[in-house]
Amino acid sequence: MKNYYQPELETAPREKILEIQNEKIVRQVKNVYDHVAYYRKLMDEKGVKPEDIKSVEDIKKLPFLTKEDLRVAYPYGLLGTDLKNCVRIHSTSGTTGKRVVAFYTQKDIDMWEECCARAIVAAGGTDEDVVQVCYGYGLFTGGSGLHGGSHKVGCLTLPMSSGNTDRQIQFMMDLDATILCCTPSYAAYIGESLAERGYRPGDNKLKAGIFGAEPWTEEMRQSIEKSLGIKAYDIYGLTETSGPGVAFECEEQTGMHINEDHFYAEIINPDTGEVLPEGEKGELVFTALDKEGFPLLRYRTKDICILSRKKCSCGRTHVKMTKPLGRSDDMMIIRGVNVFPSQIETVLLKEGYPPNYQIEVDRVNNTDTFDIYVEFSKEMFSDKISEVQAHEQALSAAMRSMLGIGPKIHLVAPKSIERSEGKAVRVIDKRKLV
Ligand code: ADP
Ligand code: ZN
Repeated sequence: MKNYYQPELETAPREKILEIQNEKIVRQVKNVYDHVAYYRKLMDEKGVKPEDIKSVEDIKKLPFLTKEDLRVAYPYGLLGTDLKNCVRIHSTSGTTGKRVVAFYTQKDIDMWEECCARAIVAAGGTDEDVVQVCYGYGLFTGGSGLHGGSHKVGCLTLPMSSGNTDRQIQFMMDLDATILCCTPSYAAYIGESLAERGYRPGDNKLKAGIFGAEPWTEEMRQSIEKSLGIKAYDIYGLTETSGPGVAFECEEQTGMHINEDHFYAEIINPDTGEVLPEGEKGELVFTALDKEGFPLLRYRTKDICILSRKKCSCGRTHVKMTKPLGRSDDMMIIRGVNVFPSQIETVLLKEGYPPNYQIEVDRVNNTDTFDIYVEFSKEMFSDKISEVQAHEQALSAAMRSMLGIGPKIHLVAPKSIERSEGKAVRVIDKRKLV
């Protein structure tokens, strides 16, 4: 038995998907040109007219939009319809400093919730499930998106929001939650908190988790799956395109299917803007094919990933994206070497450390300093200085072989690094490089 929420759309043959996309893009570009003066100007400057866009093949003729455009056009400059047709706003969590406000019509909300429903069903969800939503509710899209998706599937929805871990655990155990939705860092924290209270992985009724909103590694997935006794699925999205559910993982767990009947994806070279062929790594760019309130065309996400059209065993035909390696903004250049926090997480978990760490970069006497604070696991804990130093050196050497640069490791006592209830803050860069 295969699990789909909208089987005809999720498993549609390629030609059918293209047909849907081509029909939608012609309408969307015309609508945006007529309603969004900001984008009309960009198209005029590039010499592109709505008539030039006859199919998704022509999308590459359109100008890009960036976060900077969203900032300039804030708040109403990219609205795709009259404000009176909009029923809600959401806003980014401001991870990279600039807030974005996105507008939704009721149709946009329905489409978004359907995308989240697809993700829940792909993770094994049915109307018999109890879905505990501990993404934040409010301006952040995580809570509302999965909440709406859970309703659409007919699950019993626990609108917990993030935080208050004692209460999360109480409801999880008392109401037999079967699917957990939160950031992976919060899932790790919940797993740790359950163990501290004496629960073993099999003591809860959870079968799956739908985790996203921040980068996480395969090693982190295995660690969460073990600590909660579940299968952990990835989900991806961003406020600018609606929220979580733009792409989601199926049981094959080899990348996330992008909901291509609503979002057209391209991979570009972030330096030149050139569209790259399938299989090449680059920046993900989305065109919303049928959004009304905030219909962004060719929006540059800054997320770096690879697209694949390899046939998937789940039967879905939509293109898959790899986990984003991290945002291009997340990449640190330390002493000339490119370093992603996800590489550090991979090494830590492989070496048997818990996923509690913080990276600190600074510049002293014109040289970058690179420090990683990592918690001891209980088994490793030692009060002998020589043992601590040996662990620190071994970990630094493992980091050097992965990154090409050796950080100074500081092993700290269990529980001394602040736990995350939403998106984890992993990097403190004090260099103030602009
Ligand atoms: P903010 O930009 O303030 O964090 P959002 O909440 O809209 O605002 O976050 C969207 C971003 O979160 C994405 O562009 C991506 O970088 C990150 N993200 C979302 N889901 C995932 C995921 N599953 N894996 C990695 N990164 C993710
Ligand atoms: Zn699949």
